[in-house]
Amino acid sequence: MSHRRCLAEVVRDGIAPGGAGRLRIGAAAVKRKIGAAGLAALAALAGSGSTRAEAQRAPENVVLIVSDGLRWQEVFRGADTALVNRRFGGVEDTAALSRAFVRGTRDSARAALLPFVWTVVARRGQLLGDRDSAGDAVVTNGLKFSYPGYSEMITGHPDPRIDSNDGPPNPNLTVFEWLARQPGYRGHVALFGTWDAFPRIFNRDRSGLPIRAGWETPFPSPADSTQALLDHLYAGTTRLWGDELAYDAFMQAAVLDAVRREHPRVLFVGYGETDEWAHSRRYDQTLESAHRVDAFIAELWNTMQRIPQYRGRTTFIITADHGRGATRETWTDHGRDVDGAEQIWIAVLGPHTPPLGVRRTDAPVTQSQIAATLAQALGLDYRTAEPAAAAPIPGAVSR
Ligand SMILES: [Zn+2]
Repeated sequence: MSHRRCLAEVVRDGIAPGGAGRLRIGAAAVKRKIGAAGLAALAALAGSGSTRAEAQRAPENVVLIVSDGLRWQEVFRGADTALVNRRFGGVEDTAALSRAFVRGTRDSARAALLPFVWTVVARRGQLLGDRDSAGDAVVTNGLKFSYPGYSEMITGHPDPRIDSNDGPPNPNLTVFEWLARQPGYRGHVALFGTWDAFPRIFNRDRSGLPIRAGWETPFPSPADSTQALLDHLYAGTTRLWGDELAYDAFMQAAVLDAVRREHPRVLFVGYGETDEWAHSRRYDQTLESAHRVDAFIAELWNTMQRIPQYRGRTTFIITADHGRGATRETWTDHGRDVDGAEQIWIAVLGPHTPPLGVRRTDAPVTQSQIAATLAQALGLDYRTAEPAAAAPIPGAVSR
């Protein structure tokens, strides 16, 4: 639950808080000491039967990232020129927004908006939900707003009882709660979200999952000046959306701190600004938020790839909790009665994901399939615990 407890568990498992830097230096020193011959001998040992079996059992890592309400239209087409204006997009400086994100082709527009998605994920992973060329990805809860969407993706099935963002704690098992009970993952799950509803969505009281959400003080017992500074910013910043939603950039700093310090093996990161700016009919801020989320994901990926526990052993699943309207009038909105708001997109990147880029799918993939896909990336079958969960997305993870 609290950050303190999470650290305690990391300490119990033998990694001191703040030890990441020291561990890295230690590994380099070992490498210098044993030299090339020693490394070759270690490599040979790693090829032997028992060590290989151990390597297969060694826990991997998975990260579920959500950019709240980011439309597939922006992901696959880039900036929508019909909204780059004051009337429909609420844009304050049309020329500046055009310079930043409007391009002559679909490919160059989407690469300008989401460079990590289109240079790294599209080349080394998979993207689902491009209705222009490849196929559909949808929510099946019928409500097309946040709590039902997050619940569907983390439980593996829609639940008609979840029909309000203000609803009670989630009565259903989530894949995060289940993973936190699996060997190798207990005490190694961490959740971050800018929205203050996440403690209910993940049922923090029942699951005991360590969730840092909304404007909650990220580090009640700061371990260093960086954590103290973040606490100070959380406490002292004027809140644009009240207590409901914190800023993505602040949360990003807390996420990176946890990754470097605690090395979680299962991580949830929920960015929220893409939804709020769209509701405010500010297409300029919506695009800027999406562009920043792409940069945050790149930063997280690159940070993790520099840490031995994560390098080549980490799967990212990136998605949205719902879509939005498809027209100049309805792009700001979503919900049961908004056509197109059921349409989402799903991106997968990791060592077990065949690099197929924008993937053609015969049948629509669904938000319900994300939970089992997440577990599958770790070699685990979530449906043994939750038979109601949808099957993993075929071909997204091969293991
Ligand atoms: Zn919304």
